[in-house]
Amino acid sequence: MKPSDMLFPDGPGSRRSFLNKVGAAALALPTLSWLSEPAGAAPLFQGGKQLGVALVGLGSYSKNQLAPALQQTKLCKLAGIVTGTPAKAAEWKGKYNIADKNVYDYKTYDRLIDNKDIDIVYVVLPNAMHAEYTIRALQAGKHVICEKPMAVSVAECQQMIDAAKKANRQLAIGYRLHSTPHHQQVMQWAKEKPFGNIKVVETSDGFRIGDPNQWRLKKALSGGGSMMDIGIYALNASRYVTGEEPVSVWAQEFKTDPVKFKEVDETILWQLKFPSGAVANSTSTYAASVERLYATCENGWYEMGPCYGYGAIKGRTSKGDMDLPQVVHQAAQMDDFSRCITSNTPTKVPGEEGLKDVRVIEAIYKSIETGKTVQLA
Ligand code: NAD
Repeated sequence: MKPSDMLFPDGPGSRRSFLNKVGAAALALPTLSWLSEPAGAAPLFQGGKQLGVALVGLGSYSKNQLAPALQQTKLCKLAGIVTGTPAKAAEWKGKYNIADKNVYDYKTYDRLIDNKDIDIVYVVLPNAMHAEYTIRALQAGKHVICEKPMAVSVAECQQMIDAAKKANRQLAIGYRLHSTPHHQQVMQWAKEKPFGNIKVVETSDGFRIGDPNQWRLKKALSGGGSMMDIGIYALNASRYVTGEEPVSVWAQEFKTDPVKFKEVDETILWQLKFPSGAVANSTSTYAASVERLYATCENGWYEMGPCYGYGAIKGRTSKGDMDLPQVVHQAAQMDDFSRCITSNTPTKVPGEEGLKDVRVIEAIYKSIETGKTVQLA
């Protein structure tokens, strides 16, 4: 079995049996471009090579998810690293056979401009560092994937978008779920409405955070607490489940440990109203494990859980299980972005998408501060 085959395990008839249950409208599945090459598509590889990715920040997500996923990607590969820790540089060079000339630290970072092995810079740093390192990579002529949250303010997001335009390079946000068949399915249902108009959405994401000294709990590095980190999944989902942008938000914050969460939010509950009249009720928390996406419509419902973590996604509907292929999220995401670059087509998760979430997060914090509903449109 080729590594690429393992990405797309599609058991015999599995997707078909599900589609038969939900009816014709659901047949218009989004194109899973990484399942097969679209007819007439641009060549897969630029000059016959996989695009080179440099990971910036070799912390937990780079080490445990992105680097392993880059061993399974078809259209890109791990070609460089940026780290401030010499011991990590030595370890990664050996493990992944990375050339000395493709190893950078934060002082030599801008010299990426001279390195033809690196096509994509992937920023995997604490949130407050996203804007600076994204803009510098764009100025070095690289395409960029920046992790979520895109940045810690709308103003920073806009600067990043402007820098990408000026450099004529693509900027994508690390919304890996947009490259998974389950989440692509609910995005499609937002358009097709096979269960009728969407009425009420519930989304929640949370985990119990450990180490009280980590950057995620320091506002200067994180920009905020659970909302910035994982609530953003629940927020992003409520936007793509409805396919609409919220017109207003109301939010409340709760803290069970005011010492640990002195600087940032522990738990936030918020409600969004959408133009169609659909509403979303959502939770973000560092206090407990929760993963939920639920939509009830005029003629049925669907839900997913687990649905935001890295592993298999499970989904059910009022007409049966969502029996869709499972993928390695990050491999699918990075191959999707690579295809956009080689075919010069826009990413489906551009900076503008990241900005929309940060804008609502700012409104959520404002609602908590003022105790009032905040209008977004
Ligand atoms: P981490 O703490 O494990 O790693 C952070 C890295 O940044 C480390 O290598 C650290 O050395 C480096 N760093 C550089 N300057 C730093 C500073 N001043 N303070 C602290 N660290 C500094 O964090 P992580 O879990 O890898 O998260 C990194 C980014 O990736 C975050 O933006 C996070 O939201 C995002 N992330 C995304 C997903 C996803 O599923 N898309 C999952 C996890 C993390």
